[in-house]
Amino acid sequence: MNKKDLQRYKKLIEDERLRVGERVDMKEIQGMAASQSGNQSYSNHMADIGSDAIEQEQAFLHASQGTDYLMALEDALRRIDKGTYGVCEECSEKIPPRRLEAFLAARLCVKCQSKLERLQRS
Ligand SMILES: [Zn+2]
Repeated sequence: MNKKDLQRYKKLIEDERLRVGERVDMKEIQGMAASQSGNQSYSNHMADIGSDAIEQEQAFLHASQGTDYLMALEDALRRIDKGTYGVCEECSEKIPPRRLEAFLAARLCVKCQSKLERLQRS
């Protein structure tokens, strides 16, 4: 990948990192507040505790997924600096730009990714 393309992806990843970072921070704070309030006292005040607890759990789940994604984006930025961004880590083939644009943190080409997913499922 040439320097111009690398710079372009770097900008895209940095924007994405900011966007995800803001969302993750907010959800992590919500998740922490939920665990600190304690389930017992909380249920005395809230009539609809059932659905509320589920919503908070989902928010927390999303937050941890967001953190993973954020780490993957950080990793992609490091690969841009090293100049290995956009190359499949498995077979060293170039990852098509269309795939990178759909998933900026992609480390594998479509072929290797689907092979990996098959392995993980079995
Ligand atoms: Zn590959």
